Amino acid sequence: MTSQQPVKEPSFRESVDIMFNRAVALMDLSPGLEEKIRVCNATYTVRFGVRLRGGIHTFTGYRSVHSEHMEPVKGGIRYAIGVHQDEVEALAALMSYKCALVEAPFGGSKGGLRIDPREWNEHELEQITRRFAYELIKRDLINPAQNVPAPDMGTGEREMAWMADQYKRMNTTDINGAACVTGKPPHAGGIAGRVEATGRGVQYALREFFRHPEDVAVTGLTAGLSGKRIIVQGLGNVGYHAAKFLSEEDGALITGIIERDGAIYNDKGLDVEAVHAWIAKHGGVASFPDGHHQPDGAALLEAECDILIPAALEGVINMQNAARVQAPLIVEAANGPVTAGADEILRDKGCVIIPDMYANAGGVTVSYFEWVKNLSHIRFGRMQRRQEEARHQLVVDELERLSSDKGLGWSLSPNFKDKYLRGADELELVRSGLDDTMRAAYQAMRTVWHGREDVHDLRTAAYLVSIQRVAESYRAKGL
Ligand code: GLU
Repeated sequence: MTSQQPVKEPSFRESVDIMFNRAVALMDLSPGLEEKIRVCNATYTVRFGVRLRGGIHTFTGYRSVHSEHMEPVKGGIRYAIGVHQDEVEALAALMSYKCALVEAPFGGSKGGLRIDPREWNEHELEQITRRFAYELIKRDLINPAQNVPAPDMGTGEREMAWMADQYKRMNTTDINGAACVTGKPPHAGGIAGRVEATGRGVQYALREFFRHPEDVAVTGLTAGLSGKRIIVQGLGNVGYHAAKFLSEEDGALITGIIERDGAIYNDKGLDVEAVHAWIAKHGGVASFPDGHHQPDGAALLEAECDILIPAALEGVINMQNAARVQAPLIVEAANGPVTAGADEILRDKGCVIIPDMYANAGGVTVSYFEWVKNLSHIRFGRMQRRQEEARHQLVVDELERLSSDKGLGWSLSPNFKDKYLRGADELELVRSGLDDTMRAAYQAMRTVWHGREDVHDLRTAAYLVSIQRVAESYRAKGL
C-alpha cells in the first residue's frame, strides 16, 4: 500500500476520506461500490429568516445525508458558529460508519445550524429551532421513517422537544411522530440514560479496552483503569459524563481539564463535579481554586498523562501538535478530534487511538433504544421485564423446591427475593444494552486488529468492519 501521509493539513471531510481509503485499500470491494459508500448522497442547505429583536435575522443550516443503505438515516444536529458544509458532511459520513460498527440499523446523516446559541435567549432559540425544524420537516429531513436527528454540540433535550413538537404539529395523524427525533426529555418520549449515554459509552469503551491485557500492553500502560491519569479536553456533555464516571466509578484521576478559557491541572486529580459547577457559575475554569491554571489550554494536550480524551471539537490534534502529544492512549470522545495527518504521526509513535466511531457511539446506541421505544408504543422494558420476572420466578421456585425436598430449610431473604423478582428498570436495561453493544463492537474491531497482518491500528480495523457491513447491505438490497 502506498503511504497516504498528507503533506498539508486535510480538511475534516478529507481526513475522513483518507482514513476510509486506507481501509478500502485493504478490501476487495467491487469497482464503484467504494465510491458509492464514500461520497455523501446529498446535503441540503437552507437559509431562513426569523423576526427577532425588531429585525429579521437570517440563519444558515444544513442537513447532510451520507448513506441510505439503511433507513432512517440518523445523526445529531449541531449548533455552532463554525458549522459549514464540509463539517456536516464529514460528520454524516462518520455516522454511517459508527452505526454500522455498533449495529444500529441506520444510515448516516448530520445537521448543523450556524449560530452561537449563547447569543440568544431561550424564547428566541425556540423560534429559531422551530423554524429550522419546519424547513427540514417539509423535506422529510426530520421524519421517523426517513431521517431522525438527535442532540449534538450546542443542542440538547430542550431543542429535541421543540423539534418533535413541531413535527407533531405538522403531522397530527402520524402515530409514530415521537420517533422523529431522539434525545428528547424523559417526559416527552425520551429514554432514561440518554443524556449521559455518550459519556457512559466512553467509559464502557475504556473498560472493555482494559479487559484485554494484550491490548493494554501495546500502550505500555499498566493493567487497570484505577489510578490512571487522564486529561480531558472539553467538559461539555460528553467530556463531563466520561470524566465523572471514570473518576467516580473506576478510580481514574482526572489530572487535567481543558476548556475555552485555558486548562487546569492537578496531579492528585480534579473533582469533576466541582469543576463542572465552577464552570456553570463562573463561565470558565480560570479561577478554579483547586488546580493550577494555564491560559494556553491546548498546551495541556501535549502534557504527560496516561490517557488523553479529546471530547470537544474536531481537528484539535493535528499535524502541528501531534508529534508533541505524549499520551500513549487517546480515546476519541469527540468526532474527528485527530486529523488524518496527526493520526499518521501518532501511529508512527506507537500511540494507540480508540477511534471516534467506536468511542462515542454510546449516544446513537441509546438513541436507537429510544427510537424503538417510541415505535413500540409500550413502556420500554415492560416486555423484557415480564420475561425476566418469569425466569427469575422459575429460579426462586426451583431453589425453594430443592430446599424443601432435601429438607435443607433454606429460605431466601424477602429483600433479596423482592429485588431479584422485580427485574430491571428502564435505566438498567439501557445501561446493560449499551454495555453489550460496546463489548460486541470492540470484539469486532479487535478481531480484525489482531487477526490481520496488514492491520496495525484500531481505526483501520473499525473502518474495515463498518465498510464491510455497509457494503453487505448495499449488496443485499441492490443499489
Ligand atoms: N450526535 C451524536 C453523535 O455524534 C448522537 C447521534 C444520534 O444519537 O443520532 O453520535
